[in-house]
Amino acid sequence: AKTLRLILGDQLNHHHSWFNEKSPEVQYLMLEMRQETDYVIHHVQKVVGFFLAMRTFSRELQEEGHQVIYWALDHSENTQSLTGNLQKILHSEGFEHFEYQLPDEYRLDKQLKAFCEKLDISYQVYDTEHFLTDRTFLAEFFKGKKTYLMESFYREMRKKYGILMEGDGPITGKWNYDHDNRQKLKDPLLIKPPFSLSKDVTEMKNMLDQCQVQTIGNLDAQNFPWPINREEGLQLLGYFCKELLPRFGEYQDAMYTGNAFLFHSRLSFCLNTKMLSPLEVVETVEKYWYAHQDSINIAQVEGFIRQIVGWREYMRGVYWAKMPDYSQLNYFGHDRKLPGYFWNGKTKMSCMRHAIGQSLEHAYAHHIQRLMVTGNFALLAGIHPDEVDQWYLGIYIDAIEWVEITNTRGMSQFADGGIVGTKPYVSSANYIDKMSDYCGGCHYKKNLKVGEKACPFNSLYWHFYHRNEDKLAKNPRIGMAYRTWSKMKDKEAILRQAEFYLENIEDL
Ligand code: FAD
Repeated sequence: AKTLRLILGDQLNHHHSWFNEKSPEVQYLMLEMRQETDYVIHHVQKVVGFFLAMRTFSRELQEEGHQVIYWALDHSENTQSLTGNLQKILHSEGFEHFEYQLPDEYRLDKQLKAFCEKLDISYQVYDTEHFLTDRTFLAEFFKGKKTYLMESFYREMRKKYGILMEGDGPITGKWNYDHDNRQKLKDPLLIKPPFSLSKDVTEMKNMLDQCQVQTIGNLDAQNFPWPINREEGLQLLGYFCKELLPRFGEYQDAMYTGNAFLFHSRLSFCLNTKMLSPLEVVETVEKYWYAHQDSINIAQVEGFIRQIVGWREYMRGVYWAKMPDYSQLNYFGHDRKLPGYFWNGKTKMSCMRHAIGQSLEHAYAHHIQRLMVTGNFALLAGIHPDEVDQWYLGIYIDAIEWVEITNTRGMSQFADGGIVGTKPYVSSANYIDKMSDYCGGCHYKKNLKVGEKACPFNSLYWHFYHRNEDKLAKNPRIGMAYRTWSKMKDKEAILRQAEFYLENIEDL
């Protein structure tokens, strides 16, 4: 039967079994749409990156002899909606059968399900053949549990795929080296230059301008740095193994004003678009380590592998276990608007200026900047999780809801009340100073809790604990903070300072 196969923008998996055979009966469909550019305001590099990767994928499929229908954003017949376009193409081209791969986003899953229920031709749904587990694995694994402990899921994955294993146990005798991986960067000379591609994307930028797509952030149209196909993704992975892996774990949590990427891989875009598979990334890194054990410490390698077979896979499982309710959770009932400096980086707080500034500049911030600077601030200040989600979903090149919302609403904002995390990730200036060089040049003083120059993180930290005492005091992992608070002498002044900052949040 004449078949149409839909490929979504984050389904660029060359190794999918769909492509094992060529048939004159089968045509592939790829669509650039306003539906996707507009569901949130995205960073310009994210829109450019996705569309370029899609165009490249379509070209490569055609070169391999597959038939592809590709509608660019400015294609004359583009209805700009997925179902509108599908209806049009299925009818006008006389297709007799429709196929798609399971979307990773609830939004698209719902849309395609509803569409197919009304179809008058047959249809079939396929797995994306990308993840290590299927959608429901995690929910079954944690059946009956309130908190989903990542570590036990992670060990299960290690065993299932035999990653860094010897028999039933971890190859080095220890599962997790997290404690070795918390160093501040003291010697900037260790930093390697980022692996950089520099593509000219002027044509794409012009099209987006002509279509008046609203975006945020910066783009150097002559030097687009992100990989847009598998081959470039593999180059980035190769560079990571050789240059960055030897210190990845050690400086995984470090933040430094002089460099946005440090030892991070920047592979999330390649992974989330499925240009690279998680298993091949992890196996490449594991193999590299086996060949270089004398020069690379296991802590670096285990730290990296845990992020991918642990956290990434786990977040996906949580998403499918808890959506759609997850997107409404707001455990603390936070309701404040996101201050304006999230959109332009203009704030006197040095850590926030750097973390937001580099996000606007590169569509990138690493995990600790997202969690312990911007996310920490949003949680302490009581910003509505919807506002926080929208920002994270737009600004990062790797942001797709399944991995964004679980990290943001769950891990960072604790809006799920403790499904992903066992306690909220909050800190005062102390932690930020311990892990970065941000505080040195700051307008605010990291040691002050009260007064004109007091670092806002300090009073807001105690304000957060104070105002949420009924929700948090019984948590055994937090008791210590409440004992400290109860002994503090200047409670009133600290709370007053925090109130002042919250009332004047736009001026910080
Ligand atoms: P590296 O530090 O090199 O890590 C390697 C890989 O591990 C990453 O590419 C990523 O695939 C995976 N990984 C690491 N941490 C996580 C995690 N917590 N969850 C899932 N995968 C992880 N990641 C996204 O891919 N998309 C998002 O939209 C996203 N939003 C986030 C929002 C917040 C508030 C926080 C705290 C984290 C978010 N993360 C998100 C997770 C993490 O910050 C990014 O995956 C990482 O910074 C990407 O950079 P990298 O490729 O250099 O990562």
